[in-house]
Amino acid sequence: MGQIADNLARVRERVRAAAEKSGRAASSVTLVAVTKTVDVARVREAIEAGVSDIGENYVQEAQSKWLELRDAVRWHFIGHLQRNKVKAAVEFVDLIQSVDSLELAAEIGKRSEAIGRVADVLVEVNLAGEASKFGVPPDQAVDFAGRVSAIGGIRLLGLMGMTPLAADPELSRPYFRGLRSLFDKLPPDRRVQLSMGMTQDFEVAIEEGATMVRIGTAVFGART
Ligand SMILES: *Cc1c(COP(=O)(O)O)cnc(C)c1O
Repeated sequence: MGQIADNLARVRERVRAAAEKSGRAASSVTLVAVTKTVDVARVREAIEAGVSDIGENYVQEAQSKWLELRDAVRWHFIGHLQRNKVKAAVEFVDLIQSVDSLELAAEIGKRSEAIGRVADVLVEVNLAGEASKFGVPPDQAVDFAGRVSAIGGIRLLGLMGMTPLAADPELSRPYFRGLRSLFDKLPPDRRVQLSMGMTQDFEVAIEEGATMVRIGTAVFGART
């Protein structure tokens, strides 16, 4: 087995164990392989090892990989999306996880409608109020989600959040719990995806109810 397939097998086993621990099926958690800075050959290797969902942070990088790989996988946009990149993004992204302003949401709706599509999106919540991160403040998230839902050309499917960098995954738990409680306040048809957990803390995220984990380093190794 290649390194990537090997890493993936280990991650999948950890996902399964965490899901089981919280009484859920492993199939209730989607593994999004985060491929920023990872070249297409290695992304292909991951796809051959069974990866079905790819997460990217930059539109240009994502687009060039999409042009090579197309519909082999579902594409997730997880980085800060600039309004002038929305037109390109809505052409191929299956789930925009990082909606953080009404202006951005409106642009996504407009550009999607223009090509006869409805864009699936998540609202990004800035869980710890970090200045270095994007996302809406937790205390505004539910109201903001309601406003996003009302925009045409968009289908809101849930929430995404990132925790602060921490050596101990337990430090992430309160943030995950907070995001889960916001998620539970959404209307039932908007509670489809709760995207939380990365290499440092995905097992805790699954225990707290994540339906989607976004994992780069544990699959592809450290980014240079
Ligand atoms: C890079 C990134 C990840 C993956 O981080 P790892 O620590 O490499 O697993 C997940 N989510 C977002 C939003 C990211 O930018």
